[in-house]
Amino acid sequence: MRGKGQKAWQECFLPRFSTKEIESIDKENGVVILPIGAIEQHGPHLPVYTDTLIAEGLLEATFSHLKKEDSIWLLPPLPYGKSTEHLGHPGTFSLSATTLQQVIIDLAKSVQLSGFKRLLLYNTHGGNWDLISMIAREVRIETGLMVFKMSGMDYKETLTDLYSEHELTFGIHGGDVETSVVLALEEDWVDMNRAPSYAYQRFEEDSITIDIKGGPSVAWISDDISSCGTSGDASLGNKDKGLETINRLSKKTAQAFIKISTFEMNYLKGEHRIHI
Ligand SMILES: [Zn+2]
Repeated sequence: MRGKGQKAWQECFLPRFSTKEIESIDKENGVVILPIGAIEQHGPHLPVYTDTLIAEGLLEATFSHLKKEDSIWLLPPLPYGKSTEHLGHPGTFSLSATTLQQVIIDLAKSVQLSGFKRLLLYNTHGGNWDLISMIAREVRIETGLMVFKMSGMDYKETLTDLYSEHELTFGIHGGDVETSVVLALEEDWVDMNRAPSYAYQRFEEDSITIDIKGGPSVAWISDDISSCGTSGDASLGNKDKGLETINRLSKKTAQAFIKISTFEMNYLKGEHRIHI
């Protein structure tokens, strides 16, 4: 797993501690992070490990901005996600929605039974998103935990000078962004000679979309939207953009983690402002 050589990662990787040490962690503040990725086809040029690799890489960079006192505790990523929309493409290894749902619920119960109060589901695969949104609420109901969710691509608005607006909106799979980030993390795992510059114009022309921009949308699988398995212009990817992407997203992500670690639910009702 990436990040092993790093001080902050070593201090915050939760399974490296003994049960006694974990028992003695002050749980009042702090958050446990469960990263969720995927192993699935990412076009002819990227490794099928792309989404989980991106989770590892972004988190490794994020932890370089954190310290032990921030109480951000990292679990190993779930490498498999719900990738059923890519099944049939060799190298796609998917869980079903019900299996992933149950795995997340089981682990969340373990987080609660270990004494923690907050759980963050950190997702780097778009196909997991609907399920995670639903499960996050179920976990809240079943365990009483404060449950948060975020995507590795939150804060993509900080990348507008690196990628086109088109790419940031429609380049959802194996395009410029993911190709650049994987080049930055594992250059040898990418075959740029095969990187497709697949067009995605239909998404913006039509009034029925693929659920990116709101409005009526159609349920789709990978083969419905692309003949080469990608969406976005992968040929534009390069390592420098990827490094800068990781740099910017990780700084924002670290700030978000710190905020989450002291969040309390009564904040939502504004009770901290009410004097009865
Ligand atoms: Zn991906």
